[in-house]
Amino acid sequence: MPGDRGALVTPGGLREHSIWIPFRHSLNGVEGREGLLLEGPAGWGEISILAGYPCEPRAAREAALEAAQQGWPAPLRQRIPVNAMIPAVSPERAGQLGLAAHQAGYDCVKVKVGSGDDIGRVKAVRDAVGPRCLLRLDANGAWELEEATARVAALARFDLELVEQPVATLEDLARLRRRVDVPLAADESVRGLDDARRLARLEAADMVMVKVQPLGGVRKALEVVEAAGVAGVVSSMLETSVGLAAGLALAACLPELQYACGLATAGLLAADVTSDPLVPHGGVLQVRPVTPDPVLVGRLGRLGRLAGGRAVGRPAGPGRYL
Ligand SMILES: [Mg+2]
Repeated sequence: MPGDRGALVTPGGLREHSIWIPFRHSLNGVEGREGLLLEGPAGWGEISILAGYPCEPRAAREAALEAAQQGWPAPLRQRIPVNAMIPAVSPERAGQLGLAAHQAGYDCVKVKVGSGDDIGRVKAVRDAVGPRCLLRLDANGAWELEEATARVAALARFDLELVEQPVATLEDLARLRRRVDVPLAADESVRGLDDARRLARLEAADMVMVKVQPLGGVRKALEVVEAAGVAGVVSSMLETSVGLAAGLALAACLPELQYACGLATAGLLAADVTSDPLVPHGGVLQVRPVTPDPVLVGRLGRLGRLAGGRAVGRPAGPGRYL
């Protein structure tokens, strides 16, 4: 890429572009994070680990190498339904965001829970989006088993599609699943094949959320879904459009896609590496390749050098936006 003079060439012949990924609004005091784009014969890969979120650097690198050197399996579909996301904000703000999501054509909205006025927030969103919109919650493992039992039971009256990671461990997820009627999804508690097999053995969840970077690539994520023996739901790690394209590739080649995916996150960034970012229209993302713009990559590279490798702000709480 001639426009980015900061690129390094790896021993394997790939070009590495360091970038800074700025958030539109600070997330828990964090303004952005460093990332690395790998440019190879098959395309582009992204390594962009989010502070405080469980993702092994080696897995993220493997995912990026897959994208740059090998590419992804052939897509089975071109249209990927995606969900809107509402952070753990006040009920009033959540209602506004829910209405905006509804008006933008989303059929599925995810609400973060586990802090603040959960019931008020979920009620406000359900009121805003109407009875037909699917409503899912994500607690990022915030609750202990007993609290989760009470919370999920209390929130079930808002007609929930599913609850992601209400408790932290697969063992507690399995216990909770026998106590409540709402479908439960595992997310952070599955970070590889062993976890996926344990999920299956324990019958711990009804679906598994899969992210390309923490699982080490699209092919590895496919293996995880197969081993878990439940439906797979793809979500992002707040990547640029290069990383989102990997998530889309995974959603496109899952044998079955029954649920909206959490890939509508490009709008949370203040800048992207392409002038044609992967943003949804009418709650749907189209599967397509992403080729970064050298000028934008160079600009984000300079921002990264200005940040000088410093962490800007405090690390985000684990997965508060994922
Ligand atoms: Mg989640």
